[in-house]
Amino acid sequence: MTTSFAALEPAVEAHLDATRDARLASYLDFVRIPSISALPEHAEDCRRAAVWLADTLRAAGIEHVEVVESGGHPLVYGDWLHAEGAPTILVYGHYDVQPVDPLDQWTSPPFEPVVVGERLLGRGSSDDKSNIHIHVMATAAMLAVRGGLPLNVKFLFEGEEESTSIHLDPWLAANRERLAADLVVISDTGFFEGNIPAITTGLRGMMYAQVDVQGSPVDLHSGGYGGVVENPANALARMIAALKGPDGRVLIPGFYDDVVALTDADRSAFAALPFDEAEHARTIGVPTLVGEVGFTALERRGGRPTLDVNGIWGGFQGEGSKTIIPATAHAKISCRLVTAQDPDRIFELFRDFLGSISPPGVTTTVTSLGGGRPSLTPIDHPATQAAARGLAATFGEPPVYIREGGSIPVGASFETTLGLPVVLYGFPPPNDNAHAPDEWMDLGNYEAGIRAVVRIWEELADLPR
Ligand SMILES: [Zn+2]
Repeated sequence: MTTSFAALEPAVEAHLDATRDARLASYLDFVRIPSISALPEHAEDCRRAAVWLADTLRAAGIEHVEVVESGGHPLVYGDWLHAEGAPTILVYGHYDVQPVDPLDQWTSPPFEPVVVGERLLGRGSSDDKSNIHIHVMATAAMLAVRGGLPLNVKFLFEGEEESTSIHLDPWLAANRERLAADLVVISDTGFFEGNIPAITTGLRGMMYAQVDVQGSPVDLHSGGYGGVVENPANALARMIAALKGPDGRVLIPGFYDDVVALTDADRSAFAALPFDEAEHARTIGVPTLVGEVGFTALERRGGRPTLDVNGIWGGFQGEGSKTIIPATAHAKISCRLVTAQDPDRIFELFRDFLGSISPPGVTTTVTSLGGGRPSLTPIDHPATQAAARGLAATFGEPPVYIREGGSIPVGASFETTLGLPVVLYGFPPPNDNAHAPDEWMDLGNYEAGIRAVVRIWEELADLPR
C-alpha cells in the first residue's frame, strides 16, 4: 500500500516528478556505502559517506559545506542562510550505520540495496540515511524551483551515532557560535505503530552503575562459617530488594525530586496512541505487563523513570553443589531517567543510599559506568506545533506524540550544550528492522517525507523569534 500525501504546488511536484529516478539512484548510492562506524575496518567507508554527503549537499545548493574533523569519523556541515529575519534551524542526522551480522539472515546483501515493491532494502536504508536524504532532497527541490528556502538552515550530520557519539559533545561545545539557531530538528526517529506520523517529544536519560560487595578475601566453607559471617550475595540481594517497592516505585530518597510530572495533555497524548497492553504482553512473550502503579504502560515507558538490574553474579555457578560463602557479589544496575533528573545527581543518591543500607560484615563499592541526560520538548511548544501542522497538512491526519523509552543522547546534548529546543520527527515505518537483518524503508513514506519537510519548514518559518 502506497503512503498517500497531499501534493505541493504544481511547480515543485513537476520538479520532484522529473527528478524521481535520479533521486532514487542517489539514495541507493548512499545506502551502498558501508559506513559502519563501530568497525575500524570501515573507517574509510565512513569518510567516503561523509564526502558523498558533502558533495550531495553542494549539488543541492547548500553553502559552506565542509567535511569536519572531530577526532573520529568526520562530521558534515553545510548551511543556507539567506532568509533574512526568518528563524534558523539546525538539522541533525547520522550517516553511519549498524553492523550487519547475522549476515545469513539477510534476503539480499546489506550494501547492495534493492527495491522490492514499495520497499528499499539495505543496511541504513532507514536508520538514518532515509531521513538525511529526505531533508537534502526537499532542500534541493525548494532551491531549484523557488530559488530559496523559507528559513535559514544549518545541517549537521554525524558519523558516530551508532557507536556512542563520543566526539560530538566536545565539538558542539567548541562550535556554539557556528551552530547558533532557534531550534534543532533531530531526524532519527520514525512513525508509530500502524505507520502513523509521529513527533517524539521526550527521550529518557540513563544512569548506569556497578555494585561490588566484598566479604572475606577468599570464599569460605559454609559449614565452618555459615551463621558467623555476612554473605555478600545475600547482602547484595537484600540491598537490591530495598531499591524498588512492589508498587514499582524506586525507594532511593530524592529519586523523584526533579521529575517533571506528566500533564493532562501528556496523558491524553499517551491515551490517544493505539496500544493494547495485553496484546503487547503477548508480543513480548510475558504473562502480563507490570510497573509503577498509577501509570499506563506507555506512560511508564516514556514518561516515568525506573531502575533495573542488568546483570548479577557472584559465588559458585558450576554444575552440582559447592558449599561456600562467596567472597564477593556484583551487580550492574541502571536507571532510565526523565526530565529533569540529572544522571550525576541520581548516581550520588544511588551510591549514598546503598552506602547507608550496606550491612556490617561486607564492604560495598558503587562505581559509575556513565550516563546521559533525558530531554523533553513539550507538546504545546510552538516548534512542536509547527511541525505537527506540516505533518497534518501532508498526511491528512494530525501526528501522534510519543516519548521514547530509550535515549538519543544527542537530544540532550543539543538541549543542554547549545541550550536549544529540540523537535524530533522522521519518516521510517515502525517495523523497518532498523539495527536488524533486512532493514528497509517504505518508499511511499520517503516521497511523502520530502513533501512534509517542505511544509514543516514553511510552518517553522513563521515561528515567533
Ligand atoms: Zn539512528
